Amino acid sequence: MKSKELSELIFEGVVTLTIVYLLYMGMLMILARLVSAPPVLLRQMPSLRSVVLIVDAFMSIYRDIFQWIAAIFAGVFTWWRLARRYKQMQLGHILDELHYIAAGNFDYRIDANNSGSYVDVVNSINTLVESTVEAMEEERKIEQSKDELITNVSHDIRTPLTSIIGYLGLIEAGQFETNEEATRYIHIAYTKALQMKVLVDDLFEYTRVRQPTTPLLLKTINLGHFLEQVAADYELESRKRNVEIEVFLKTDPLMVEVDVDKIARVFNNLISNALKYGHGATWIHIEAEKIGSEVVIAVKNNGERIPSKALEEVFGRFYRVENSRSKETGGTGLGLAIAQSIVALHGGYIYAESDEKETKFVLHLPLEQKGKKEEKANA
Ligand code: ATP
Ligand code: MG
Repeated sequence: MKSKELSELIFEGVVTLTIVYLLYMGMLMILARLVSAPPVLLRQMPSLRSVVLIVDAFMSIYRDIFQWIAAIFAGVFTWWRLARRYKQMQLGHILDELHYIAAGNFDYRIDANNSGSYVDVVNSINTLVESTVEAMEEERKIEQSKDELITNVSHDIRTPLTSIIGYLGLIEAGQFETNEEATRYIHIAYTKALQMKVLVDDLFEYTRVRQPTTPLLLKTINLGHFLEQVAADYELESRKRNVEIEVFLKTDPLMVEVDVDKIARVFNNLISNALKYGHGATWIHIEAEKIGSEVVIAVKNNGERIPSKALEEVFGRFYRVENSRSKETGGTGLGLAIAQSIVALHGGYIYAESDEKETKFVLHLPLEQKGKKEEKANA
């Protein structure tokens, strides 16, 4: 409390006590007057007059007690007034502090310990400030991540675009010796253009599946058959890399309701990742089993482990472990970010684990899409 406030309180106390004292004295004087020179009205009402006389007699016998009662009353009344005033002051402080926070000092919190009876209010305010600051922080992060997205996309588009312009420029300027050389330049430009298209398509898909309202084209499928089919598409490539792909079904048959194209995209990415980045792997195992009301599917490989620090990041867009190495394989780094969003659209989740023995990506998917039934009917 400031000294100004303390003197204000003292002044208020003195004023209150004086008022109570004057009231008390006034009351005594009125009583004495009613006894010594009663007004006409009182003289006409003998019963009322006797009451006045009794009160007067009573007061002169028990004067001490009455004085005590008056003193106690004065004390309680003053205390009550001061407490009210003090509370007002506390509220004033809280308001001042709130203005201070609102002025941009978002790290500041009102001290609940000094808030007396306003502890609950202050705690609620602090919680509110906390959640508002968090929301602002979240907003800032989103804004920042949008900027990053634009930077990454610009960068990833600029690299192939520079090549395209370079090679087409050579052709336009006639800087080639033979037709074969020109064809080679065109081929490089064409490949780079295709690479750009993959990036743009992925980016489009990524922003699409990021929307929680994206509709799913749901169908109930036999998961075993589906996984076998997806794995079969990689037969040639896996044979080339000396990797064996196998599907293990712990529950058979296993029926799940999914958007087939989207889920196929998830597994295509997981398997192609295992082939591309699971350096030294000799097998890729796809294991599926029903647990309760969900299906758990793991895509494992026994290749080089993903460092634990990178493990937290692999689902982030554009993230590639050891950038340069992965760059050669031509990925955009959007695959797992898209996979994560697709799994989330199905009400499931995905995570990765990796150790010396194996690297695995594990998906949890609900067997049925209960909440999304209507969408399907409307589709
Ligand atoms: P895209 O899938 O868009 O073509 P990408 O494969 O590089 O590009 P993601 O699928 O998101 O992108 O994978 C991100 C990174 O995670 C990869 O670049 C790779 O470094 C790492 N990674 C993913 N799967 C594995 C795996 N099975 N073993 C080792 N590293 C992996
Ligand atoms: Mg990938």
